[in-house]
Amino acid sequence: MPLSTTAPLPSSVDVLIVGAGYTGLSAARETAAAGRSTLVLEAGSLGAGCSSRNGGQVAYSIKPTFAQLTAQFGADRAWRICREGLDAVEYLRSLATREIECGWRGDGCFFGAHTAKHFSDMARDAHSQPSGIEQRISVVSKSEQHAEIASDFYHGGCVYHDDASVDPTRLLLALHGRATGSGAVVSDRCPVTALNRTRNGFEALTPRGIVRARQVLLATNGYSGPLSPWHQRRVIPIGSYQIATEPLGTDRVRELIPHGRNIVDSRRVVVYFRPSADGERIVFGGRAALAEKDPIACVPRLRVMMERIFPQLRSVRITHAWVGWVAYTFDKLPHLGQRDGVFYSMGYCGQGVPLAPYFGMRIGQQMLGLAAGRTALDGLEFPARPYYRGKPWFLAPSVLAYRLIDAVGL
Ligand SMILES: Cc1cc2nc3c(=O)[nH]c(=O)nc-3n(C[C@H](O)[C@H](O)[C@H](O)COP(=O)(O)OP(=O)(O)OC[C@H]3O[C@@H](n4cnc5c(N)ncnc54)[C@H](O)[C@@H]3O)c2cc1C
Repeated sequence: MPLSTTAPLPSSVDVLIVGAGYTGLSAARETAAAGRSTLVLEAGSLGAGCSSRNGGQVAYSIKPTFAQLTAQFGADRAWRICREGLDAVEYLRSLATREIECGWRGDGCFFGAHTAKHFSDMARDAHSQPSGIEQRISVVSKSEQHAEIASDFYHGGCVYHDDASVDPTRLLLALHGRATGSGAVVSDRCPVTALNRTRNGFEALTPRGIVRARQVLLATNGYSGPLSPWHQRRVIPIGSYQIATEPLGTDRVRELIPHGRNIVDSRRVVVYFRPSADGERIVFGGRAALAEKDPIACVPRLRVMMERIFPQLRSVRITHAWVGWVAYTFDKLPHLGQRDGVFYSMGYCGQGVPLAPYFGMRIGQQMLGLAAGRTALDGLEFPARPYYRGKPWFLAPSVLAYRLIDAVGL
């Protein structure tokens, strides 16, 4: 993407942001619009991380349930954390429908039940949502399911009417445009290789020289490396793999997914799919391997997963396959704040399409010292685990265990 600059780096800035995905660009827009000189440095080309290659699904994205959060933090904070998850979707909806062009489609999502028990659990939950944080949900029985998906794979499911989708790259470019339009400079192919504390802030080492910055934000999510070992020990990079079918034609895609909704399912090893942004293909994703693999090597498995849901697609060609590294956390919550003077926002657990622009905006406001930047997640412990240094050795056995649980239908 030829949008970033290769001009010489400034020798000093107010704000240096490491990583030019949704988080970094959203934060940059806040600090630059407030008049702080802001430089965003990206190791790869613009969009090298997840923010150009995701499934584009926009959903309420706080993974722990209200009950789990209540047990951990009490009902008040649990409610505020869940509210923040809804606010993230509303923030993106408002941006996408009023300010930027990112292929927003408010078609909703069908959440397919993998077993009859999952269906009864999700129907019960849909009818007993905590007050003030309800979502618009319709329960769809197995006999009604063909109105949502041309498949008998699921045992019914639920439609989440407020879910939406975006074209991921158009969202990235729009956030880039907002950041640079506010005065931020974005420079790609320029990794930050070290960060040193100075009397007035930090000095960042890069192959293109040293940049001094009063404030620094780490917006590196699943690509967090040795630049900050403390963060590397707290995020778990996990490959999420996607394939796209050859163009099938919009009519055929509509036959498969009549309302054009996103589809996800209730398995532990979740799959997600939807019509492509142009409506011509099915884009299908999930965890395709026990250990990380070349995305091309994952095509056969993803294809089998897709064909179990849509046997009608048995003869179609797969034309694209790719992978990106999402960032899980040990408590399945995003984390933002400050550590040793370095700001950070990361750990969206594979759901950063709404969360990263929102928390990027909030951490930018925190860097400005604004009360508006406060969130329900502030001050939470960011947990690490003994013997974990950034290489998730436990991933393959965990995926295997989850696959077995899915296979026996628990
Ligand atoms: C296949 C796939 C499908 C997905 N589908 C969905 C979905 O449907 N819905 C959803 O909500 N989420 C989805 N996600 C997750 C979502 O894309 C991410 O959570 C989100 O994009 C994270 O944005 P970010 O800006 O925090 O991180 P990223 O976009 O990953 O950006 C981090 C950047 O930091 C850069 N970086 C790292 N270290 C350095 C350094 N030292 N110097 C300079 N730069 C550095 C990296 O190069 C990278 O570009 C998906 C992800 C993948 C991979």
